[in-house]
Amino acid sequence: MKERKTKARRSTADPAGGRRADGSREAGKSAARARTRASGNGKAGAPEAQRVVRPRGRESKAARRARTEEIIRRLRAEYPDARCSLTYRDPYELLVATILSAQCTDERVNQVTPALFARYPDPESLASAKQEELESLIHSTGFYRNKAKSLLGMAGAVVDRHGGRIPDNMEDLVRLPGVGRKTANVVLGNAFGKDEGIVVDTHVTRLSNRLGLTREKDAVRIEQDLVALVPRKDWTDIAHLFIDHGRAVCRAPTPRCEVCVLADICPSSRV
Ligand code: SF4
Repeated sequence: MKERKTKARRSTADPAGGRRADGSREAGKSAARARTRASGNGKAGAPEAQRVVRPRGRESKAARRARTEEIIRRLRAEYPDARCSLTYRDPYELLVATILSAQCTDERVNQVTPALFARYPDPESLASAKQEELESLIHSTGFYRNKAKSLLGMAGAVVDRHGGRIPDNMEDLVRLPGVGRKTANVVLGNAFGKDEGIVVDTHVTRLSNRLGLTREKDAVRIEQDLVALVPRKDWTDIAHLFIDHGRAVCRAPTPRCEVCVLADICPSSRV
């Protein structure tokens, strides 16, 4: 997955943004306090329903929902351009690119797909591709034999079962060879604009756990926990926001809590 310039990284050295490049504990604490004041949280007399605080001990569902919405609000402000970083023009191209992105960076996939889509512009042409030729075109994305098989199987099924059109529902998508729930969520949310579920990748898994939105490690269970907390209109966007924040700030293995806009409402914050 490729790195993109983010407001978070630009503002790291911006003292006016309440953050310091030295990452000192005190700097982080005062920045977090400033943000809390700015958002109205912690204000004496603020209505209880609007207060969002770092959970200590057991957190009610209502409090966790409110905190989740505040997390989304802050990340939207921080990453206004958060979006799918795969390059595509239609559902077919996004489906192919997403299959290729398994165990591979989006940047690498974007280098491979222009030639691939020029050679196979639609499911019909891809379905009749020769396995060896396909393998050589996608070789650099890794696992190219299995990916070529998946692409051929997917394209054949799209032609046979759906008249060459990529299905726009979860049930039909996950029946296509090489297409799991995560891939289907990517296509439904980004190519069809349908919030049917939440994409759970390594960043979403890490951030959801650190932010105390789930205790699960399994992607399906994490998704279940998140859909119970996140407003449906944000199901597609939250994955992009978590991915951008996971790359820029809440990194594995060491999060940069001292420059994090969520530090005062995150149970895992180190500041
Ligand atoms: S405060 Fe730290 S652990 Fe929590 S989201 Fe921010 S970077 Fe991640």
